[in-house]
Amino acid sequence: MYLFESGVYPATGLSEAKRVGTIGFCLIHFPKRSFFRNMSPYFTVVIEMSEVRQWHNVKRVKRTVNALKENGFEAVYASTKTDALKDVLNRVPKNALIGVGGSITVRELGLIDALSRRGHRVAEHWSSDLAPDERMEIRRQQLTSDVFLTSSNAITESGQLVNIDGAGNRVAAMIFGPKKVIVIVGVNKIVKDLEEALDRVNNVAAPMNAKRLNRKTPCAVTGQCTDCRSPERICNVTTIINRKPVRTDVTVLLVGEELGY
Ligand code: SF4
Repeated sequence: MYLFESGVYPATGLSEAKRVGTIGFCLIHFPKRSFFRNMSPYFTVVIEMSEVRQWHNVKRVKRTVNALKENGFEAVYASTKTDALKDVLNRVPKNALIGVGGSITVRELGLIDALSRRGHRVAEHWSSDLAPDERMEIRRQQLTSDVFLTSSNAITESGQLVNIDGAGNRVAAMIFGPKKVIVIVGVNKIVKDLEEALDRVNNVAAPMNAKRLNRKTPCAVTGQCTDCRSPERICNVTTIINRKPVRTDVTVLLVGEELGY
């Protein structure tokens, strides 16, 4: 009630009902002279910031979706992780063999569990129980899977997919082999152009993945790329997919939330 009287809510495109609900929850439970009641301008700022950020993300995602379509991809937008999960599951045919690349995004969405529960055979090589030979065999299976799921390390507003890979299986499967490829990308990976994309893959995605994998590389210590010659280097291959390769079926699903590195 207090916040509406102050009239501080600009038209942001979010529904009135949603704002009323959020604000009501914040205030109704606070006593008149409580600390939180006195902090109400702070909550106002937080809510405004989050709405403005969301507005900006949506604009950016829409620009990128349009550019991807112009580059021949099927491109779609899901505003939340929950919607993204549903969308991917709807695209996977019954009994399809699923290949999964090294992707935090795919795992964050819970796709592997959801697909396994549906009875799909999932070729994924991250299990610690696997011997090196078994892991290689699974990587080969991914290349001929019915549906290959991955993310992209960066995606430009001009609709290019930019990736690095240590072994190359993930980027190979994105280009040729699987009958269908679904690339799921969080809003945090959208960049302006190729220059920014290459900076992101080398100085954000690679260091974070090197840290996660406990690799003995300079970037796993400093968080920055020094173009090392480490035997454990994780960025031996860099790919730029400018347009959808011919005779492939590639869907890019952009998600309006942060996912992966
Ligand atoms: S070249 Fe070396 S330091 Fe640079 S990102 Fe790759 S692994 Fe890290």
